Amino acid sequence: MAKKRETIIVFSAHSDDFVIGAGGTIAQYVRAGKKVLAVVFSYGEKSHPWMKSKVIKAIRQKEAEEASKVLGCRVLFFDLKEFSYLKEYQSQGLEAALIKLLKRYRPQKIFTHSNEDPHPDHQAVHKITIQLTEKMKSRIQVYIYSVWNPVSLQTQFPALYVDVSSTFWTKLKAFKKFPSQRFNAIYPLMILVLYRAIKDGFKIRKRFGEHFFRIQ
Ligand SMILES: [Zn+2]
Repeated sequence: MAKKRETIIVFSAHSDDFVIGAGGTIAQYVRAGKKVLAVVFSYGEKSHPWMKSKVIKAIRQKEAEEASKVLGCRVLFFDLKEFSYLKEYQSQGLEAALIKLLKRYRPQKIFTHSNEDPHPDHQAVHKITIQLTEKMKSRIQVYIYSVWNPVSLQTQFPALYVDVSSTFWTKLKAFKKFPSQRFNAIYPLMILVLYRAIKDGFKIRKRFGEHFFRIQ
């Protein structure tokens, strides 16, 4: 019997977090034959208050789909309102939907936001992840990633460094699919992403790296 393909799920509060936090690793896993699904919790329409939210949603979805295509993963959207994730999570009955999703995909690993991340939506997604994995019968490895704030967690948690030397440029290419997010800040942010990849790569004596902590 053929071995089941390993599945990895990446939880992402906003449409570009999974690319910034784990894009190189996602592309690396896909190349290794694993199946990766990104779950985006919100379209994030707040950052463009002058545009109709329907328009923003369509743009965000398209950008994330194009970025996912570059990385080789699939992407799925939920529609939580920014800054009230936990409330919306309850009121929309999302827990049942996510448990169903986890049962269907049976991921070996989940990547999610860090609990140290100051952004309330990122913290909410962290909490949601923990609640969900506690409800699952089978044990799922949970890793945290950082978006803009480095995870300090000086730490009892084991670190996972992934060599993304051959997929780092793929990550940048995917990141460029989000012009609506940060049209005037994309270059400084890319420099930060580059700096981190070099720093993490240095740790494992590779050209580029991404690092995570395993919390479960
Ligand atoms: Zn975010």
